[in-house]
Amino acid sequence: MFTNKTVLDRRLPCVHRYLSLPIPDNTTQCMYVWIDGTGEHVRAKTKTVDFIPKSPSELPIWNFDGSSTGQAEGSNSDVYLYPVALYRDPFRLGNNKLVLCETLQAQPQARRLMTLGPTDASRHTPCLGDHASSKREVLIKRKDVRWADPTSGIYLTLRACALHTNFRHTCKEVMDKAAEQHPWFGMEQEYTLLDSDQHPFGWPKNGFPGPQGPYYCGVGASKVYARDVVESHYRACLYAGVMIAGTNAEVMPSQWEFQVGPAEGIRMGDDLWMGRFLLHRVAEDFGINVSLDPKPIPGDWNGAGCHTNFSTLAMREKGGITHIEKAIEKLGSNHAHHIKMYDPNEGRDNSRRLTGRHETSSIHDFSAGVANRGASIRIPRQVAEEGYGYLEDRRPSSNCDPYRVTEAIVRTTCLD
Ligand code: ADP
Ligand code: MN
Ligand code: MN
Ligand code: MN
Ligand code: MN
Repeated sequence: MFTNKTVLDRRLPCVHRYLSLPIPDNTTQCMYVWIDGTGEHVRAKTKTVDFIPKSPSELPIWNFDGSSTGQAEGSNSDVYLYPVALYRDPFRLGNNKLVLCETLQAQPQARRLMTLGPTDASRHTPCLGDHASSKREVLIKRKDVRWADPTSGIYLTLRACALHTNFRHTCKEVMDKAAEQHPWFGMEQEYTLLDSDQHPFGWPKNGFPGPQGPYYCGVGASKVYARDVVESHYRACLYAGVMIAGTNAEVMPSQWEFQVGPAEGIRMGDDLWMGRFLLHRVAEDFGINVSLDPKPIPGDWNGAGCHTNFSTLAMREKGGITHIEKAIEKLGSNHAHHIKMYDPNEGRDNSRRLTGRHETSSIHDFSAGVANRGASIRIPRQVAEEGYGYLEDRRPSSNCDPYRVTEAIVRTTCLD
């Protein structure tokens, strides 16, 4: 019922005493974070390096046991972790880093071959272009990895392919293709806090809280639960470098939201995934679980979504509303495809949430409207009045993969 207040007490000895022990100069703890086989949860493990990384391309490719995360067969279980984004570590502080990774598999028969490293620039795929370093140290030795002498100036080539759960890979390609349209996103991540017994945090153990009404943006001990988690997470995002835009208490008690954005291109997915990692990790310190389920409590309780606000440069300029309307038309013709992309189970998760009630549209129909929170797409009132700005796609579910959502939106509206 109450969070452990001592977790936030900086004066506390014990674990803090150990965590403030000095470590050798330049030694950095790098926590590699990746999306697991559920497509919804994250995993993490840590590696020591003897320098202070400034870009993900300086960090070694690593691996993990994919058979333990639902991502590989036991007989071919090594999955590569390919660093793609760096964040400051709000838990270990100092120069320590959180490292967002793509998952790759060293199997030539899979979806796509890619070549890493500058040995053959012509075969180099654009999706990894910004990470192809001339100094990529790879500490793994595998049959599919051809080694070159790291001191010779000739670098190794790793042949690998995106894992089936890696949706960043194609998202990055699409974002690169649409780069000159400068697609911006703002995603509103709703989530529910659960007690260790998986019951919503703060709810009576043998019943329900009073009906919805006083909880949205609520203030007060019986209106909101576990604000400590929310405040700590907000601060952790700012420290880490996640582009957090804001936060609010939601309609169902113990349900909250944080927004990330406006972020351009691939950064949207990167920052939202890292924001989710930080949320799970902060809540862990309080003994609280985070659920991204789109309808955690059936019945007269709001579900959880991940509204995706979107604009291109043309939409943000004077008269941009015509571009917004064109985009909405295209989204309407591709409704079924988008629904498939908007949760990890081809729309099955979202079908519990998109009922046409509780501020949602029906999963079966496409609709759009100014200031309409019961529509698939909402044009904010201010945007309609000013004649430019952005649109809000209200369909993505709270457990969506932001790489799939942003890729689908850009494919449909920018690349046809
Ligand atoms: P709501 O009124 O739907 O609750 P929020 O304030 O929660 O809206 O979220 C709005 C989101 O839209 C924020 O994440 C913000 O960064 C994002 N946003 C603002 N302007 C733009 C824009 N031009 N393009 C894309 N996203 C935008
Ligand atoms: Mn082991
Ligand atoms: Mn919101
Ligand atoms: Mn909301
Ligand atoms: Mn919204």
